[in-house]
Amino acid sequence: MPASRKLASLHLALLVLLGSLGLTMATTASAHLDSNEPHTPHTGPGPDPMALSPAVLEERRDARASRSALRGTGGGGIELTPDPLVKDAYCVKQCVSPREATPGAIVRITGAYMDPVTRVVFPGKEGKMRVKYRAKSMTAVRVEVPRGADDGRPYVVTAAGAKSNRAPKELKIVSRAKIPKEVFPVRGPFSYGGKGSRFGAGRTGHIHQGQDMSASCGTRLVAIKKAKVVYNQYDDGGGNYIVLANKGENTSFVYMHLKRPAKPDVGEIVAAGEPIGRVGTTGSSSGCHLHFEYWIGPWQTGGKPIDPLPYLKSLR
Ligand SMILES: [Zn+2]
Repeated sequence: MPASRKLASLHLALLVLLGSLGLTMATTASAHLDSNEPHTPHTGPGPDPMALSPAVLEERRDARASRSALRGTGGGGIELTPDPLVKDAYCVKQCVSPREATPGAIVRITGAYMDPVTRVVFPGKEGKMRVKYRAKSMTAVRVEVPRGADDGRPYVVTAAGAKSNRAPKELKIVSRAKIPKEVFPVRGPFSYGGKGSRFGAGRTGHIHQGQDMSASCGTRLVAIKKAKVVYNQYDDGGGNYIVLANKGENTSFVYMHLKRPAKPDVGEIVAAGEPIGRVGTTGSSSGCHLHFEYWIGPWQTGGKPIDPLPYLKSLR
């Protein structure tokens, strides 16, 4: 709750208390005005000749704001709970893209005052669908898209019946068959660079085992295909790095030099296109880039690296 609302809340509580005791605020108000502190917040709208001073007008605005906020919660009690505010709604799991979810996908709804939220409302093919949240915090709610949900702008509701605005952008609900099987790992402008960036290029003491793609630090990286996270750690060479293994096809994929430790935990299954982290230059690196490896078999423990460039080029 912002400080100004807290003040308004305190102020309102004070008004109610004084009112119930049959006191007037005139003496308090004039005392403050006499002391030449026009912005002291705890004076009341006193019925005195100074009633039109800026301080008093400000007080009245505060009181009005408090009363209208109270009405917004259904009028119960002194407690001030603003309606939840939705800033965005986007798909994070089982997505075709951030704006294209599938039935069963996980959608994250971000905003403010989200902690009293109990349900997310999706447009449905046969009317509104109210779905219980999966997880929530002050600023976000996670929810699974129900079967039968339709394209539109979801919103959230609280147990008390308060309703948010609708998400500003439309979320499309599309068939799961549209989930891509493979996705290019760098989600922004990049360059394959010159010969020195290629698989097999000479390096001090070893041969380059991957393809470098230079891109601005912070560029989003996503999982190239469905795979299990087998390593997510840091070393002086690779910096923050992550290794994904696709057991079914016996391949492994390595992302190095990430800006921060990769998002998914070891053991987690990631789908194609799921966030991995961001381009960085951690470890042995001289500029922002992704070092990407493609292995047949397990990484470093019996498998062998191959040139990833033809495969990468096939994805774009
Ligand atoms: Zn490299």
